Amino acid sequence: METKIVALANQKGGVGKTTTAINFSACLAEKQKKVLLVDLDPQANATSGLGLEKGFGSSIFPALLGEAEGRSLIKESGIKNLDIIPSELDLAGAEIAIARRDDYLHRLKEAMDPIVESGTYDFIVLDCPPSLGILFMNALNIADEVIIPLQCEYLALEGLGVMVDIVNQIRDAGNPRLHISGILMTMYNVSTNLSQQVVQEVVKHFGDRVFETLIPRNVRLSEAPSYGKPIITYDPHCVGSAAYRNFAKEFLKRQKEHEAEMEAETLPTLSSVVASDASSTENNLPVAE
Ligand code: ATP
Ligand code: MG
Repeated sequence: METKIVALANQKGGVGKTTTAINFSACLAEKQKKVLLVDLDPQANATSGLGLEKGFGSSIFPALLGEAEGRSLIKESGIKNLDIIPSELDLAGAEIAIARRDDYLHRLKEAMDPIVESGTYDFIVLDCPPSLGILFMNALNIADEVIIPLQCEYLALEGLGVMVDIVNQIRDAGNPRLHISGILMTMYNVSTNLSQQVVQEVVKHFGDRVFETLIPRNVRLSEAPSYGKPIITYDPHCVGSAAYRNFAKEFLKRQKEHEAEMEAETLPTLSSVVASDASSTENNLPVAE
């Protein structure tokens, strides 16, 4: 199977990007998918959330500068089928360091291409920082799809239009595969009307682009990172584990549907044949002498 690159992105902070990156990756790995999680946030929360120590000089940074092979930066996560390229605070300097280069929006592509081409992974998951900066743009330039986590809170939709516009611009400017695979509603609070109202409002705007799975607010999900474990290892039977397992299942199902749709688009149809200029082929038709 071809490697698919999935970015977790929303410029709003604290909406569940990293929690989703860790737990979605772990659930895909549990389903026997080979996964590489790339921590693109200098806060390095995905790194520490998987139990790797921050500050050991290991991040994607040297590969962005062209000073190291992306592949040499891959670490084992301790979880079967799941590897990670960690982050550290130094990555905060990467945007400045690469900004002077002409190809500053494609540095991640150069770093990741050999890994993608090796076909080692089914999925590469990118945990983006909460900004629309250079690292975010680099991520979208290599991504096949974007999952946008949205917190079930007042003003959840604020800023989302800008994000959707940028995804469309990057698709049109040279990454035609890029699409929004869906919006994932996070921190859903079953005991308040507000959560329900927010979900209804988001569905009004985005329809079936909102994932059916809702991620509930679950204290176990917020505890797990301090133990350096994904939720399915920390507490396999809590509602947070069930929710992220459901999400991974729904994601894979939607992916199959999307691939089938794309394939169907390349098939010839009656109307496209009838609409095309038949006169040019007329003379080539075999004629009985
Ligand atoms: P940032 O923009 O800073 O990178 P983020 O979008 O990556 O933030 P997270 O770090 O995943 O967001 O989540 C923000 C906080 O909310 C964290 O403390 C996390 O543990 C908590 N949290 C995320 N999802 C849930 C949930 N479903 N239930 C309870 N707490 C959650
Ligand atoms: Mg984060």
